Amino acid sequence: MKKALFIDRDGTLVLEPDDYQVDQLEKVVFYPGVFYWLSRIVREMDYVLVMVTNQDGLGTDSFPEETFWPAHNHILKSLENEGVKFEEILIDRTFKAENASTRKPNTGMVLHYMNGEYDLDQSFVIGDRITDVKLAENMGARGIWLNNDPGLGGDEMDSTADLSGTLALVTQSWEDIYNHLKQHSRQVRVERVTKETAIQVNLNLDGSGRYHNNTGVRFFDHMLDQVGRHARIDLEISAKGDLDIDPHHTIEDTAITLGEAFRKALGDKRGIERYGFYLLTMDESMAQVALDFGGRPWMVWNADIPREKVGQLPVEMVEHFFKSFSDHAQCNLNIRVDGTNAHHMIEALFKAFARAVRMAITRDPEHNELPTTKGML
Ligand SMILES: [Mg+2]
Repeated sequence: MKKALFIDRDGTLVLEPDDYQVDQLEKVVFYPGVFYWLSRIVREMDYVLVMVTNQDGLGTDSFPEETFWPAHNHILKSLENEGVKFEEILIDRTFKAENASTRKPNTGMVLHYMNGEYDLDQSFVIGDRITDVKLAENMGARGIWLNNDPGLGGDEMDSTADLSGTLALVTQSWEDIYNHLKQHSRQVRVERVTKETAIQVNLNLDGSGRYHNNTGVRFFDHMLDQVGRHARIDLEISAKGDLDIDPHHTIEDTAITLGEAFRKALGDKRGIERYGFYLLTMDESMAQVALDFGGRPWMVWNADIPREKVGQLPVEMVEHFFKSFSDHAQCNLNIRVDGTNAHHMIEALFKAFARAVRMAITRDPEHNELPTTKGML
């Protein structure tokens, strides 16, 4: 799914003049840092850019068209020269008192981004007014408030309390916006509920190895913790399943949901390494995992693990876990484990998998292309 940044113009891309109307070239002063940081956002992340701006009374005597367009075109051209190009520019020309459906925070101009084609949960409205954050709220997107107008009083501040679920960041700096988007651009939450299980996965591929996993199968939790730590991702899994029958559904559905979370978080896979491989030893065991997030599920399994269970984990479910993950993350997994101690063999395998994942999901911002000659993955 596509993601978008809905960006305000005045007070956000250019500084707001004293009279709140950019109607002369001399009034165009770009927001500090906007060229550098916004062009990095464009280069390194996969957002579609949409400008959404209220221009009170544009085309009336109070704001004649011929005073608007030279400044506006100058702004667009200057940004375009730095690689910042807007997919669409949406301008509302009404006055506040009209309360038009097209005027921010109303959604009249952006309805075509709300029809399911865009992942709004992963999209942001960036602007210098609370109305921008309210637009985010009304769209089901997230809001970034560039709070740079000292003239805005406590009232605006107070009204942010109701918007805490929407407001992702309050800052005066485009560098902070870049860092926030970079940190969260591969963060997803996926839920899967069936009659057998209810699974929640919170995953951040750009995390720091924090984990909190609770499936009710302790040894399995311990293995998922290894994935979080050794892949250096943030991983939180909560699974409630029909353990009174056996752990089969819980482990299988956790793998399915985790696979879906990876597929979603990887997005269009632009700039990732794609391939990962690791050879890892643990006491007498040796595990080898090769992985390809190439979009085609496949699994090769070469492991003959002794014992039927380790803790509450049925050993046969280890293969099933990786097969289900491969199917739903749409990756190729080639796995080999040698050894004699089942606990060591399984733990070595999960750690080698995690290290291979870490390699494959690494992004190189200087080479932000698709790792394929096919045009898509
Ligand atoms: Mg503004």
